Amino acid sequence: MANIVVLFDFDKTIIHCDSDNWVVDELGVTNLFNELLPTMPWNTLMDKTMKELHSQGRTIQDIVECLNHAPLIPQIISTIKSAHALGCELRIVSDANLFFIETILKHHGLTDYFSEINTNPGFVDKGKLRIFPHHDFISSPHGCDLCPPNMCKGVVIERIRASAFTEGKKRFFYLGDGKGDFCPSLKLGEKDLVLPRKNYPLWELICNNPSLIKAGVHEWSDGKSYKGFFFTRSMKLSSKKPAAMPILLLHSLVIASSRLFQYLAMNNFHKPFKFLVSAYDQLKNWL
Ligand SMILES: [Mg+2]
Ligand SMILES: [Zn+2]
Repeated sequence: MANIVVLFDFDKTIIHCDSDNWVVDELGVTNLFNELLPTMPWNTLMDKTMKELHSQGRTIQDIVECLNHAPLIPQIISTIKSAHALGCELRIVSDANLFFIETILKHHGLTDYFSEINTNPGFVDKGKLRIFPHHDFISSPHGCDLCPPNMCKGVVIERIRASAFTEGKKRFFYLGDGKGDFCPSLKLGEKDLVLPRKNYPLWELICNNPSLIKAGVHEWSDGKSYKGFFFTRSMKLSSKKPAAMPILLLHSLVIASSRLFQYLAMNNFHKPFKFLVSAYDQLKNWL
């Protein structure tokens, strides 16, 4: 059994955009959303906006179709599949909502790779999408100053760490980009790793407060940079080393060969190597 739990934020970590903003913008209610934003919490406003879309005649299918073409982080699909194949347990911790996340994962065939989705409840009620807070901020506020009232990801991480330790899972990798990912990053221990997206708010917060972070830090700027990291780091830590070894060797071989062919192609050997460069690019994407 693997001893690594990989925790993914969703917006701007698995998909390239913010799913709430994507739906609001694509379905043409940005002005209303911006007008109401100063008057209520974001999560409450999302519920209200979904009601407004319903009253404008927009259907659940319209929302699904809009989510289905939300852009993904480059190579995230193969990264998720690789980490899963290496024996890591994958979970999502997101301040989006369950309906948006499940719809996008299903569209890309990724649902079964995740053992748990921690997010704001989102479900269809009489043809209307309803969105609620993860923590009920009226009856049981989480009391964390770093996080929005509807969700403290730090509380979620503490719960996950406590239950994972009893199952023998000892290490956590946390991938995120936003301010809301700082609180859970503070909860990670020395053996854990936080992977902040470079030049995004989480990365800036970590750079400005390095002494507060106990975990190791490995920044990333696109799918490629964390994909390579997963292969090497997960391999070292995973208990599935024998099964993962051929994949790691093949991956290293393909990357090295691809760089060689690119070099040769750039140095006027391009004709015979053009085909090989594109073939290796295909193989890299597949891996
Ligand atoms: Mg995010
Ligand atoms: Zn918090």
